[in-house]
Order: sequence, then structure tokens, then C-alpha cells
Amino acid sequence: MRAVRYHGPKQPLQLEEVPAPTAEPGQVVVQVTAAGLCHTELHFLSGLLDLGVQPVTLGHEVVGRVAQVGAGVTELEEGQRVIVYYYVGCGRCRHCLVGDENLCGALVAEYGFISDGGFAGALKVPARNCIPLPDHLSDEAAAPIGCSVTTGIHAMNLARVSAGNVVLVYGIGAVGLGIVQLASRAGAEVIAVSRTPAKLEKAMSLGAAHAIDATADSVAERVRDITAGHGADVVMELVATRATMEQSTKAIAKRGRLVFIGYSEDSYTVHPIQLVITEASVMGSVGNTLAELQQAVELVSRGRVTTVVDRTLPLEEFQKGIDALTRSEPVGKVVLLP
Ligand SMILES: [Zn+2]
Ligand SMILES: [Zn+2]
Repeated sequence: MRAVRYHGPKQPLQLEEVPAPTAEPGQVVVQVTAAGLCHTELHFLSGLLDLGVQPVTLGHEVVGRVAQVGAGVTELEEGQRVIVYYYVGCGRCRHCLVGDENLCGALVAEYGFISDGGFAGALKVPARNCIPLPDHLSDEAAAPIGCSVTTGIHAMNLARVSAGNVVLVYGIGAVGLGIVQLASRAGAEVIAVSRTPAKLEKAMSLGAAHAIDATADSVAERVRDITAGHGADVVMELVATRATMEQSTKAIAKRGRLVFIGYSEDSYTVHPIQLVITEASVMGSVGNTLAELQQAVELVSRGRVTTVVDRTLPLEEFQKGIDALTRSEPVGKVVLLP
């Protein structure tokens, strides 16, 4: 079968022929029908994210059909449409025991990161990592649930977003579009920030109350104007360059939470007094839990959150997708169709 393989930092991804997987006991083989391209892929290519495993097949937003069922699997059958949860924790550490597999320090697998992922004809995963999808949800519409929507839910939970909060979503990629919807549904007043008018329009159509064009305005000043000086109770940082982090920090309200979801090569600097006098918190958010994926599937299935697909591409045209992401061009997700 064909697979898009990562060979290390600053090396191009390669479409290669690799052996097809077979299901071991407790596992299933998922024949991939749609897989989302994530900004994480760019971090692998630049070397900013280097997990030391290569070659490896990328792709952690994976939808497909169960093609083979391993011994002992009773909960899934061949032909079933599923979305894949991309972490397999050790199951024994303090984080796994409470369901926080995203924090496990002894991961058994992480598809598309340290284990072969979904930019391929198929992948094998434990049966418990598959969540069935309803028929009315198309493969390409379901793919962005896997990281984008679910990562948004995780960040929302960490930041304790509640009704009446002002939530600044700094960066309107696929995760940002998820958070805009989740936060506005939670009763928050959402301010979207982007340099791209089409992304701001999309954010407004999905529930943002305000849009700030980062090329034209001082973001923090605009946030203070909009909120009568209060600032943002929650700032979701999805860009995290020096320039955006400066604005994000200036925009935090008293007792506000700045949540890093995105990152760049730039470091974050803040004088403690800025946090002391505002009692602000700075936190990071990584990935998501299986329970959050389940919740994301339900929200999208019931039409409460919409996934946004910019374009679909056949697997062999993966580089076009990478190039588009590098230019920050897509409004929503680029989905590969193996
Ligand atoms: Zn991702
Ligand atoms: Zn663990």
C-alpha cells in the first residue's frame, strides 16, 4: 500500500510503498478513507517538533472503515465506519488511570507521531481507539474531528470557559474554528483574530461576535476597546509568534487564562509582575482524551459543531496540501483521501 512517510527534519515527505498492516489480537485494521492535514506536520518538517522516530507515516486525524478484525475483538465488525483516537497510553500511569492518555510518559503508540498514521491505505490500531461514526456524516467532514474539534474541547476544558467569558481566539485555523463554535455555544463572547479576511468571515459565520484583522489593528488595544477595558478572560494562542504572544499577554483580563495550543520557534517572555498584578494564568494544552473525542463526535454528529473543510486532495497530492498550509491559505481543513 502507499503511505506518506516522514524521514526527519528538513527532509521532504515521500510517497512510498510499504507493507499493509495486519491486525494483532485486540486490534483492527482501518482502511483509511480520509485523513486531515494538521499544522503539526509543518512542525515535523521544520524540526521544531522532533520525536526522534523516523521513518514514520504521518496523519493523526483518521477516518476509515474497519477492514480486518483481530482475535478477541467483539465490539467492531468489518465494514464499520470509524474515527481513530491517536494516543495509546500505557494504561497504568497516574495520567492514563484518569483518562489523560495525552500526558502519558510511556505511550505504547501515537499514530502519526511515533507510530504509523493515516496518510496511507490503512493502519492498525487497538479496537478501543475506534469510535463508530453515524452514516450521515461524510468521511471528509468527520476527519477534522480527530484533532481540530477535539483539541478545541480539551483546551476549553483546561481554560474553564464559562458563560459570559470573553474568549479571544488568536489564529483561525481548523482548531480555531472549532473553538469559536465551542466557546460561543458555551455562552462566551468570542473575538476572532486573523490576518486573513476569509478566515475572519468564516469565524463570524460560526458564532464569533467580533473579528480583529491582525494586519490592521493593535490586537490588545482592540480587545480593550471591545470589552470596555476588561480584556479577554481566556486567550487561546494558536499562533504563538513573538508578535502574537506580546498582544495575547496584553489582552488578558484580570484572573484571565492564556492557553498555548500553537507554538512557533519563538520563546515566550513575560515579566512576572504582569501576571502577579492581574492574577493571570499561563498554561499549555496538548492533544485530547478519548472521552473528548467521543464528545466531539457527538457534537459534530448532532450538528452542534460544524467542521470546515477547505479542500480534499488525493493522497499523492499531499505536497499541495502542505504547501497551502505553509502559506496559511486554507480556510479550515485540508483532507487527504487515500
Ligand atoms: Zn493535529
Ligand atoms: Zn500512561
